[in-house]
Amino acid sequence: MTQLFQQQQLKVTNSLSGKKEVFVPLKEGYVGMYVCGPTVYSNVHLGNCRTFMSFDMIFRYLKHLGYKVRYVRNITDAGHLENDADDGEDKIAKKAKLEQLEPMEVVQRYTVDFHETLQKFNLLPPSIEPTATGHIIEQIEIIQKIIAQGYAYEKNGSVYFDVIKFNASHDYGKLSGRKLEDMIASTRELTAQEEKKNPQDFALWKKAEPQHIMRWPSPWGDGFPGWHLECTAMSTKYLGEQFDIHGGGMDLKFPHHECEIAQAEACNTTSPVNYWLHANMLTLNGKKMSKSTGNNIYPAEIFSGENTILSKPFSPSVVRFFMMQAHYTSILDLSDSALQASEKGYHKLMEGLKSLDSLDTSNTSDFDVATWKQQCYTAMNDDFNTPVLIAHLFEAVRQINLINDGKATITQEHKQELQDTLSTFVFLVLGLTAPSGENGASETLEGVLRLLIDLRNKARVNKDFVTSDKIRDELIAMGIQLKDSKEGTTFTIN
Ligand code: AMP
Ligand code: ZN
Repeated sequence: MTQLFQQQQLKVTNSLSGKKEVFVPLKEGYVGMYVCGPTVYSNVHLGNCRTFMSFDMIFRYLKHLGYKVRYVRNITDAGHLENDADDGEDKIAKKAKLEQLEPMEVVQRYTVDFHETLQKFNLLPPSIEPTATGHIIEQIEIIQKIIAQGYAYEKNGSVYFDVIKFNASHDYGKLSGRKLEDMIASTRELTAQEEKKNPQDFALWKKAEPQHIMRWPSPWGDGFPGWHLECTAMSTKYLGEQFDIHGGGMDLKFPHHECEIAQAEACNTTSPVNYWLHANMLTLNGKKMSKSTGNNIYPAEIFSGENTILSKPFSPSVVRFFMMQAHYTSILDLSDSALQASEKGYHKLMEGLKSLDSLDTSNTSDFDVATWKQQCYTAMNDDFNTPVLIAHLFEAVRQINLINDGKATITQEHKQELQDTLSTFVFLVLGLTAPSGENGASETLEGVLRLLIDLRNKARVNKDFVTSDKIRDELIAMGIQLKDSKEGTTFTIN
């Protein structure tokens, strides 16, 4: 059987070359893809979700083309220090101390939030979701290999990667386009008490001070792995020394991904990744959405409408549609007006799909469905160009409306092809879902809740507070919250 990937030529923007390149996997028909996952020390904000949604769309399209994709997305549950540097506290350990929890309780809580949030946005689970703490042995083995090759050194129970030595025979900076000489010129001198030979060196293993709670035994004493190492360990273990795609947010290009390349090249001689794909940032008020600066919004706040940024709640599907309207390599700014426009667009698209079902057919067609269908593929083959794809989807909606108004015609065969193609791109590739009722409730549930709200309001008018409180409290026990305002009562489902 021929597969779609044999007919469609996919091109991707490779950060290594800065160019669009034809995508040829190492093994025909198979794709290995690794994407850096979240550091689970707090809830994911919408910016994080954008990156994962971008790679979900890429995963979905590769699968749709007929590739067998092994998609590995890790969970960082140790080793990521504050400020992404080699000093400071582990982000998870810090949160654990603050909340008087075990570090693994912190990890569990935010991993659950991460999964629940991505499920609301209809992301497919990856094929493997490994954790850093589950791969300490593999990380120690890689450090031993790098030391054996002469590219790392031990100092007081910590091990550092020797960037200057590596750069003498390799190219440190090839991904981010930085030159080591420039980096050296722009960094401060090391102080006498610092362990690194050079400021550019990075930690592969850090000695754990007595108060450091997340620690493991190693040949260099008790300690914990450096942040960059886990991704090299897990990608190599599950995808091999060389694999097809490595993804992540643009902000991870340097130092994280640069260091991943250095680690892998130092122990394996080959460059680990053929195509580096980077998703661009979601901004708010023109600035990168970020956990540390507080310039962010959480998905739950968007769904409930309880925030100071947006004028009303927006559903996960509308937010996903908003994300897909931008190319994954472009910066995207979140605003109330942009979401309002996306909501209109999303409903227009869904209305179009609905009216297609009941469209009358005839013996002639004014709409060249085959050409339109190829235009949809061509858009996606051009580095997953979802905004252009969506423009084509709206062209189909325009045609559907013309036919509906009796101004154009379509044959049964073309109608079927249009239906199949639209639902493929809308639901399978873009990962959108059909509108449910308010706040993710099914239409039936929404009807029942509206009835209960009505009965409660009547009870309140009659000063029957026993009944009105009973309705409110029992709904809360079921995870449904009522909110009263001047405009009436709304509900949110947790
Ligand atoms: P972290 O949990 O901080 O390691 O981040 C998880 C992922 O979210 C990484 O791939 C980041 O690049 C990505 N990310 C962080 N902030 C943003 C943002 N504002 N827009 C898009 N992606 C982001
Ligand atoms: Zn990573």
